[in-house]
Amino acid sequence: MENLTVLSGGMGGAKFLQGLLHGITTGALPGVSPTARVTVIANTADDWWLHGLKVCPDLDTVMYTLGDGIDPDRGWGRRNETWSAKEELAAYGVEPTWFGLGDRDIATHLVRTQMLEAGYPLSAVTEALSRRWLTPTHGEQVRLLPMTDDRVETHVAIADPDSPSGKRVVHFQEYWVRLRAEPAAEVVAVVGLDDSTPAPGVLDAIGGADLVLLPPSNPVVSVGTILGVPGLREAVQQTAAPVIGISPIVGDRHVRGMAEQMLTSIGVEVSAAGVGLHYGARGRGGVLDGWLVDERDAHHVERVRADGVACAAVPLMMTDHDATAAMAAAAIALAGER
Ligand code: GDP
Ligand code: CA
Repeated sequence: MENLTVLSGGMGGAKFLQGLLHGITTGALPGVSPTARVTVIANTADDWWLHGLKVCPDLDTVMYTLGDGIDPDRGWGRRNETWSAKEELAAYGVEPTWFGLGDRDIATHLVRTQMLEAGYPLSAVTEALSRRWLTPTHGEQVRLLPMTDDRVETHVAIADPDSPSGKRVVHFQEYWVRLRAEPAAEVVAVVGLDDSTPAPGVLDAIGGADLVLLPPSNPVVSVGTILGVPGLREAVQQTAAPVIGISPIVGDRHVRGMAEQMLTSIGVEVSAAGVGLHYGARGRGGVLDGWLVDERDAHHVERVRADGVACAAVPLMMTDHDATAAMAAAAIALAGER
């Protein structure tokens, strides 16, 4: 295999990509060339505008993680970050104060916003930013694409007794960062998604892949939004490459984040089988040929297989790069079963 394509969210996707790249360079992935290229199609529905800046959390998490600039403890934002700009904004009383942009991180948003305002599409901006982060560390091996160049933003409706409608709609970032995903998500609406088009290179990366991977990213607000870009799901359904996914739900819980809340909001069972069946089998309207569940979810394997998806139970905790590479190897083994 020479071309691998991964549909990625932020932290879960980035961690998986680190292990996948480690597996490629150490020869730990049977059938994958040591010079194989990885194209990352990243979720951009978490994006928002803040203090006049375009912020793309999932693109930046992937870029900083693979470019060795990530803060390893937080898992997002820049290493050795300082927060003077945030403190100064708060001193002016500028809202919101619950979302901090670090001083180093702001440089990325300034460059991105200037380029967007000069007329460059997000995909071209991402390519330019990648030249700093991905080229030195990975050369031509990794290509990072936004799922779309269009503005798409996830919003979440929550109960609000003070509002006449009984509901309030907040931006995804407010739900996650300020509200810590504590109120039940009644509706998840992805504004702009239906009118978006795949960014340049996205459909070709899926159609021309030797393997398409769905990492253990959030199935609703990461992979779900990527697949929701018109034409993208069809490209995954039609590619000649095997499509293998990895469960973000282990032991009926998400490992971190808020997949439980998001799955509940769309009426999907919070389990490894629930997510696998939600993605569904290719040929039956779904997107998967294979689905990996954690070994403690081995009792779910038969249910997934019964739906026409190859399934295996293996350790799915991304504790280090070797463990993650072993997950990728198991995904490749499953692809061979197709
Ligand atoms: P986000 O955009 O930062 O939320 O990141 P993603 O959408 O890419 O990934 C979030 C998902 O990663 C969550 O649903 C977690 O359950 C999942 N996740 C995080 N760490 C692990 C892990 O070690 N193993 C598995 N199987 N899933 C994980
Ligand atoms: Ca995200």
